[in-house]
Amino acid sequence: MRILLTNDDGVDSLGIKVLADSLSDIAEIFVVAPDRERSGTGHGITVFSPLMVSKVDHLDTVKEAWVVNGTPADCVKLAISALVPEVPDLVISGINRGSNLGTDVLYSGTVSGAVEGVIMGVPALAVSLNSFKHDADFAYAGKFTRSLCLQLAKDGFERDLLLNVNLPDMPRESIHGVRITKLGSRRYENLFEERKDPRGKTYYWLGGGIIEETQDEDSDVAAVNDGFVSITPIHFDLTDYRLINEFRQRYAEFVDKV
Ligand code: MN
Repeated sequence: MRILLTNDDGVDSLGIKVLADSLSDIAEIFVVAPDRERSGTGHGITVFSPLMVSKVDHLDTVKEAWVVNGTPADCVKLAISALVPEVPDLVISGINRGSNLGTDVLYSGTVSGAVEGVIMGVPALAVSLNSFKHDADFAYAGKFTRSLCLQLAKDGFERDLLLNVNLPDMPRESIHGVRITKLGSRRYENLFEERKDPRGKTYYWLGGGIIEETQDEDSDVAAVNDGFVSITPIHFDLTDYRLINEFRQRYAEFVDKV
């Protein structure tokens, strides 16, 4: 098996090292990752400036690794199009420091790295650990991802498969199990702190915590809060199928009226 890793926390992140170490006995590992923290960059790509690429050798359990001055989506697109010698069987983006639940998936560089894999025709996982602590323990998340990869290989790597995996920040013995979930609701306070720069100009810095809301039992947010690993099958088709027929009828003659 051949696996491409990326991580929006940057090429030096612990999450990427843990994944490489956890998977190297079952797969040939390639890494293409951003040169710095790119969390929250969503699916942005770089088109108006060059992508600079360097080989790196600080990861000793990988076949080849490159660092890129781009986003996770850039990294995966560039990797599959130009860097890795053969198309990988699987793209894994993570392990991210911090969960990616509900609407987070739209802002998440981690999830976008995985989405780009599927756009490029390769099944993909986004893996996140629900902890921002600097001594967060990624070990079980690495083991879990390894087991999941073996299962996906057994199932034959379905082409459009895109799984958003979130693990609670708990020791293995405290985790209750796995729930297959839907995306829940994730809203933030959106507190823009107003500050002054040294020359007196006003600037803003976005902060603010999560707004705790009642969640559907079968949501990713509820699963992680209840101590389960959450696996959400996702896709990037944003079409609102509920409204297609209604709008076809309502706007059928619209072109004649304008
Ligand atoms: Mn991140």
